[in-house]
Amino acid sequence: MSQKGHAATLSWSDDPPLRIGHGYDVHRLEPCAPAGPGRPFVLGGVLLESATGPVSHSDGDALYHAVTDGLLGALSMPDIGQLFPDDDPRHESADSAVFLREAASRVASAGWQIANIDATVILERPKLSPRKEAMRENISRETGVPVARVNIKGKTHERVDAVGEGRAVEVHVAVLLVRMAAPGRQAEQHLA
Ligand SMILES: [Zn+2]
Repeated sequence: MSQKGHAATLSWSDDPPLRIGHGYDVHRLEPCAPAGPGRPFVLGGVLLESATGPVSHSDGDALYHAVTDGLLGALSMPDIGQLFPDDDPRHESADSAVFLREAASRVASAGWQIANIDATVILERPKLSPRKEAMRENISRETGVPVARVNIKGKTHERVDAVGEGRAVEVHVAVLLVRMAAPGRQAEQHLA
């Protein structure tokens, strides 16, 4: 292929075949029932051993929520709070895998594929490292992204502020989508 032809192939001026998405979530952590209002601490679909857990309407899985929002954000769709309102009794104690699967299915039906997912979990305790692989496998299973392209980094907040004092968990996620189908009616509707 000539230089010129290659450049023409990479002309993205109309509608780039890539979308980046960012997801963020934070949940307050409180002592688990019956001592307090905290739910069992589920993160990335993994139950963590912890005396505190998230306070939330759904199961409070901040990692699943952030990945869900990253995918929806890349599609310029309404966020997780708009799609699954927390005052809707159907979402009371909901398994957040349902939200993640729904977002992944919207990515596919809009003609996109998830290239990779990169997450940063900021949590003082418990330690994330022993459970990270299980979380990656869960996200891989729910989204259809091979586990090698799902990354999770664990950090503490250096004992500073609410997260550092163990009173909250925070998650940031970046996702990249690659277009699999030429933009047609369906894709345009989803991206409107
Ligand atoms: Zn959340």
